[in-house]
Amino acid sequence: MSSNVTVCVRFRPLTSKEIAEHGDEVCIRCLDDKSFVFKDERGEELTFNFDKVFYSESEQASVYEFSVLPIVRDAVNAINGTIITYGQTGAGKTYTIEGPNIKESDELKKGLLQRVVGELFECMKSSDETVNYSMKLSMVEIYMEKVRDLLDLTKDNIQIKENKVQGIMLSGVTEITIVDAVDTIQWLHTGIANRAIGETYMNMASSRSHSIYILTIIQEFKAHKRVRTGKLVIVDLAGSEKVEKTGAEGKVLEEAKTINKSLSALANVVNALTNPQGKTNHIPFRDSKLTRILQDALGGNSRAALLCCCSPSPCNAPESLSTLRFGARAKYIKAPPRCNFDEGFIQKNGFISPAKQDQCERVLN
Ligand code: ADP
Ligand code: MG
Repeated sequence: MSSNVTVCVRFRPLTSKEIAEHGDEVCIRCLDDKSFVFKDERGEELTFNFDKVFYSESEQASVYEFSVLPIVRDAVNAINGTIITYGQTGAGKTYTIEGPNIKESDELKKGLLQRVVGELFECMKSSDETVNYSMKLSMVEIYMEKVRDLLDLTKDNIQIKENKVQGIMLSGVTEITIVDAVDTIQWLHTGIANRAIGETYMNMASSRSHSIYILTIIQEFKAHKRVRTGKLVIVDLAGSEKVEKTGAEGKVLEEAKTINKSLSALANVVNALTNPQGKTNHIPFRDSKLTRILQDALGGNSRAALLCCCSPSPCNAPESLSTLRFGARAKYIKAPPRCNFDEGFIQKNGFISPAKQDQCERVLN
């Protein structure tokens, strides 16, 4: 069975600070577009293989086309998808998702969110007359183990619930019906600005919170009034660096510890899912809000792409190595994605058997 998680690595270009410290030295040697040799702090060489490696000169469009576009196309066919960026602060996670700015107009620099939104509206436009499409947007942030609604700041402690039909859901979260790409980008801009408010008084809160963008695509078949939905979840994780390295104290230290707890919960989930003892062991999804929200993505009811963002500089080698090890482990997660049907269909036909799922996937492909 092939993995439902595509794992890619993206190296950003060296920053001027890194060049000042180490010149243009890098700690990687490219082998091909899937593998490279990594030189660790002690000069030891390790070879890594991934589904795809994007080196420093890679373009936003190539990252999108390989890792994200197939997932977006499936979401339009009611197969859930999740895209996660992982890596230390400054490794290029937000740049990959948002570009330099969510309203960036330079085609080359646009982040994957802008590209996803464009593709979704294109798919909707080209659909035939038998289907009505509609789309919704939600945006939340997990900060100190609380889920905050970025489109309505009065909702600062959203509860996570599970429902047999919809899977994991955020109870009462704001869902904006979006009508075109321009409108969606404006809403994304609003949500991002709400997240950034914290930055001034929480000392770079954005790198210590996980930002989650949720796009729900609803398809209504006119002839038999059936509805099916596909959910796309895009996650910009908090920085994965070790707390000691940040020199944090007091409240900032507490924040950092909480973030590290949810990222260790994520690592524990990945370890449990890839444990050779198989699915019989307990998967600790409930250990953090983050893993609970990602339960569908990692537990099988979704296609997923993990983008491991790294600096190519030797000064960040220990953090890059830790990111690469996390990604290498995640490659072994295996669970087939399913197609979502509406409640009426499930009541009539019972829960979808693996054979039916298979049929459904074949029909959809
Ligand atoms: P993170 O979200 O992982 O903390 P950022 O995405 O904010 O990191 O990136 C840190 C800095 O590096 C930003 O100034 C960003 O513009 C720049 N950067 C990151 N990735 C790239 C890239 N692929 N090309 C050009 N600049 C990049
Ligand atoms: Mg960021």
